[in-house]
Amino acid sequence: MTIDTSGKWWVGSEPADVEEYLKAFKAEGYDVDRFKLARCQCKAESFHLAIDDDEGAARRTCSACGAEGFIGDSGKYFANTTQSYECVECHSLTCNVGVGFSLYELNNTDVRWLSVGVRCSQCGVLGCMIDWKVGGGNDPDFLERV
Ligand SMILES: [Zn+2]
Ligand SMILES: [Zn+2]
Repeated sequence: MTIDTSGKWWVGSEPADVEEYLKAFKAEGYDVDRFKLARCQCKAESFHLAIDDDEGAARRTCSACGAEGFIGDSGKYFANTTQSYECVECHSLTCNVGVGFSLYELNNTDVRWLSVGVRCSQCGVLGCMIDWKVGGGNDPDFLERV
């Protein structure tokens, strides 16, 4: 894993670099205690990402097979796409997606805050597309829904 921080944007050499980015970014000042990289059931790691900025929700669509998935509790809240991922640098429409979870306590799984990190599939520019406060984030499989 290598992140180039010399330019205007941080650039990651591989998908897993999203984790380091989110840990440094610390959305709303919250530490990222857990991280999970999105991987489709078809094994692809490149997605289109739609967010609902009004509700605080995100949906990813696999660029290989078209399968959709809601991140965290987004399935309950996603209403309208207010923005779709587009790379700030090369305008690619697909990205790797990684989710950072901030927990209330390190030894349990109650999620307090969630941040959705992205890495451009083409040029590697890293970013945080959206983050939100989680209510009822203690579902057993919450940390798996990325
Ligand atoms: Zn797929
Ligand atoms: Zn790009």
